[in-house]
Amino acid sequence: MSDVLQSRPARQVMAISPVRRPRRAGPRHALHRATWLCGGCGDPWPCTLRRTELLAKYRDNPGELHRMMDFYAQLAATSAPDANLAAALQSQIADWVPQRTATQPDCGHVARIL
Ligand SMILES: [Zn+2]
Repeated sequence: MSDVLQSRPARQVMAISPVRRPRRAGPRHALHRATWLCGGCGDPWPCTLRRTELLAKYRDNPGELHRMMDFYAQLAATSAPDANLAAALQSQIADWVPQRTATQPDCGHVARIL
């Protein structure tokens, strides 16, 4: 340890030492429900990165992705103070999902991943 560190009180030494923080569980670009923005980058949720992650995760079950995003869109709309914001939030949250086709399966339940 250098002479500079040895001459400082312990609290100051800890403040300049590298700190290892535990990794957060869950996705980094998760929904911040108070604002309906991405908690990771601040863009409208789901942000571009989160959309990419969701499309990859639900590649084999797009019907479930539709139901989940419809659920969040309805939740956002009911929390909006006026109809214009409600419509904007519904569009932001649900309209980016690719349209379903007749051949895609529908498993009938919604996953909690957000
Ligand atoms: Zn983000």
